[in-house]
Amino acid sequence: MASLWTGLLLRIAKHWIAGETCEDAFARAQQSNALGIHGIINLLGEEITSREETTAATDKILEILETIKARRIESCISVKPSQLGLAIDQSLFRDNLSKILDKAKSLGAFVWVDMEGSPFTAQIVDSYLEFRKRYDNIGVAIQAYLRRSEGDVNRILDLGGAIRLCKGAYNESPEIVYKRRNQIDENFSKLMRIMFERGKGFAIATHDEKLIEEATNLSNVHHADFEFEMLMGIRDKKKLELFQRGYRVSEYIPFGKSWWAYSMRRIREHKSNIFLLARSLVSG
Ligand SMILES: Cc1cc2nc3c(=O)[nH]c(=O)nc-3n(C[C@H](O)[C@H](O)[C@H](O)COP(=O)(O)OP(=O)(O)OC[C@H]3O[C@@H](n4cnc5c(N)ncnc54)[C@H](O)[C@@H]3O)c2cc1C
Repeated sequence: MASLWTGLLLRIAKHWIAGETCEDAFARAQQSNALGIHGIINLLGEEITSREETTAATDKILEILETIKARRIESCISVKPSQLGLAIDQSLFRDNLSKILDKAKSLGAFVWVDMEGSPFTAQIVDSYLEFRKRYDNIGVAIQAYLRRSEGDVNRILDLGGAIRLCKGAYNESPEIVYKRRNQIDENFSKLMRIMFERGKGFAIATHDEKLIEEATNLSNVHHADFEFEMLMGIRDKKKLELFQRGYRVSEYIPFGKSWWAYSMRRIREHKSNIFLLARSLVSG
């Protein structure tokens, strides 16, 4: 019974994840590359509490970097700090991330650091600022719903760092985040303007039509070095349209056995996905 249930849920999750194996992620990245879209491969997994599992995740990420290079796949990677040990201790996280950054640097690859829930925000931003002094192949996600983000954006840009601006996907308290959609969008616009004025190598990570068009208008004025980033399985036509209009577009491609938390965030953020879930369960 449990495996039937898991199978059904995995079928839904496959709207947003490439599959459970590395080969699934490479295949998806190659399909996207054929359409002109770059990949951002992400091994799923978060809030890991065993040291051995963080080591296993790190080793797997090193292999992924090697394969991307060997097969000439146009893709960077994205990692979650709590997958690398941040939920256990900072030095474990830093050691694992250093290994990944060293390998990536030797292969000419870029590493994005995902932003997680608020218990981790300060540590992720501070670690990013430290790592950015030693590595130029690292970027970090910043969430527009967080009230603190303008300060973080400016601190990161002062160091010449690379930001992926997204709205934010976790359920947080109103003391630390803007809750209303229009407030989040306004803050996104504000931070995006700062990035177009001061940043380079940054990413606008949204599927929001209005914000995407605002970014294209800003790019006409500032001619900044940036890309659009979207999630696998969401607004695929828009990705192609932007590529055809001459923009660089990357697709976040998660894969792996730990697909539950990621898929729940995707289901929660868009109401129509509840119907998708219900329909699949009814039709078996
Ligand atoms: C490349 C990338 C990396 C990200 N990295 C992080 C990260 O590190 N940390 C973090 O907290 N968040 C991250 N996010 C998630 C982000 O914070 C938002 O939760 C998510 O992108 C939805 O916000 P939106 O900007 O698309 O706007 P929304 O206002 O939520 O959506 C705009 C439109 O996009 C479409 N859409 C959006 N989401 C869905 C969905 N799930 N299913 C179907 N349609 C949808 C709909 O048409 C919707 O009207 C990332 C997002 C992207 C694209």
